[in-house]
Amino acid sequence: MESKEAPRDFIRKIIDEDNKSGRFGGRVHTRFPPEPNGFLHIGHAKSICLNFGIAKEYGGLCNLRFDDTNPLKEEQDYVRAIEEDVKWLGFDWEDRLFFASDYFGKMYEHAVQLVKAGKAYVDDLTADEIRDYRGTLTTPGRDSPFRNRSADENLNLLERMRAGEFADGAKVLRAKIDMAHPNLNMRDPVMYRILHAKHHNTGDKWCIYPMYDWAHGLEDSIEGITHSICTLEFEDHRPLYDWYLDALGVYHPQQIEFARLALTYTVMSKRFLLQLIEKGYVRGWDDPRLPTLRGLRRRGYPPTAIRTLCERIGVAKVNSTVDIEFLEHCVREDLNKTAPRFSGVLRPLRIVIENYPEDKMEEFEAVNNPEDPAAGKRKVPFSRVLYIEQEDFMENPPPKYYRLAPGREVRLRYAYLITCKEAVKENGNLVELRCTVDPDTRGGNAPEGRKVKSTLHWVSAAHAVDAEVRLYDKLFTVPDPLAQEGMDFKDLINPKSKEVITACKAEPAVRGLKPYDRFQFERIGYFCVDPDTTNDHLVLNRTATLRDQWAAIQERGQSGK
Ligand code: ATP
Ligand code: MG
Repeated sequence: MESKEAPRDFIRKIIDEDNKSGRFGGRVHTRFPPEPNGFLHIGHAKSICLNFGIAKEYGGLCNLRFDDTNPLKEEQDYVRAIEEDVKWLGFDWEDRLFFASDYFGKMYEHAVQLVKAGKAYVDDLTADEIRDYRGTLTTPGRDSPFRNRSADENLNLLERMRAGEFADGAKVLRAKIDMAHPNLNMRDPVMYRILHAKHHNTGDKWCIYPMYDWAHGLEDSIEGITHSICTLEFEDHRPLYDWYLDALGVYHPQQIEFARLALTYTVMSKRFLLQLIEKGYVRGWDDPRLPTLRGLRRRGYPPTAIRTLCERIGVAKVNSTVDIEFLEHCVREDLNKTAPRFSGVLRPLRIVIENYPEDKMEEFEAVNNPEDPAAGKRKVPFSRVLYIEQEDFMENPPPKYYRLAPGREVRLRYAYLITCKEAVKENGNLVELRCTVDPDTRGGNAPEGRKVKSTLHWVSAAHAVDAEVRLYDKLFTVPDPLAQEGMDFKDLINPKSKEVITACKAEPAVRGLKPYDRFQFERIGYFCVDPDTTNDHLVLNRTATLRDQWAAIQERGQSGK
């Protein structure tokens, strides 16, 4: 739950001021404007949480608007996926789903208005020439030889551009601002380009398409947005955003920029994610190692944990990178409270309880979630042959290893105390343990005065469900794979980022789980059911281990290392 007392960040302060002055009549109306050219990632989640969150806090509205002005890279499939992902994250645009392409007609009318006012012109320079004429940060640009065409001539050419008379790139429409402006974005920016391309929404209706800066402010204006929140790289575009809306004399929202989210050990931009997918480094947009919302979902990250992360990192005016361990910390904290516990053995070691009858079966009560009494209890079957974790036994245990060893007694959680009598080997390899149970320790209770230092999880072999488990680790070997000199980021992929183990054993209660369900294997980690699961093949993804590395990182930070 958002706290009303949350400290006011600079965006909320701006909105408070605007509400006080009555600038937008007390209205707060934001939007989340994805370009449908890829799937959403956790960076987008920050923008979604911010825009929808602010609207909710102020009793305002937030639109979902597809910024679909580029016909070349955009696809209908992405539109559907983005809608799904925003919903999964927990936000609702109600009836306010918009497409920038629905405004192409209005945008064109506004362009005509600027042409008639002598504030826009058709230019015949090529893209290269336009770049050359633009000048640099230290030298002013030069006027295009076509800059002083009459309004009538410009209007005629614009109409013919729209009618499809010219080839791609033959002409553009430009705003007539100032070729010597210190801000390069203001040196007669291109408003329209010719592109004979089919658009996912408008089909072949248009062969001129608006540029981002021209389109975006108009989209905001048309929708009555009050605060147009975007990332820092648009700060230098704000004068242009303002210029267009002022030149047209239309309703004028406030653009506000904030720092984008970056995470260590991953890449975020769709451009780089696409490379990983197309070159086969990962299995697709929903690979559980990717920072995409689909990937995180498949990995088992709860949407609530992602929202918590976004809330806690807050918004800033300076770019910075968040430790991925902090995200994992939020995930663990969330799952600790919400995930039911089960017993599962990743690398099974068979044990036979010699003094337990072959045809006997007992059921013990196990707590579903010690953090949540309402989650109740379940029954876990116990029998003569069990599996424990291979790493919970050592033939020659070093000091401080308290788990099972020959001659030693340990507790099997909820069940009994057992003692290891013999390690059975074949060709030098350990194949099973022979153990005995103390029948007086039913429920796992040690009699007065008897110290048992270790409690192990276990699964009854006769009742076990087989599972394939996919273990994941950081996608890259370095915190910032894009900043390694002379290295392609793809060469820095962690070869251990995915490991598959197949002969895992889980207690029978996991049969009731559905794809994407999250749970904890006690002592092992958090897991979720992968959608590859079929009726007779359970596939699990490890969401996180139980070890929280966030505290260690903070300690390191405080000691300045
Ligand atoms: P990418 O570089 O990943 O392609 P983008 O900015 O091109 O991202 P858009 O679809 O244009 O992606 O973004 C939709 C909204 O999400 C924009 O308002 C954008 O500013 C915001 N956004 C994108 N990436 C981040 C990020 N890393 N942190 C915060 N907001 C982001
Ligand atoms: Mg983009």
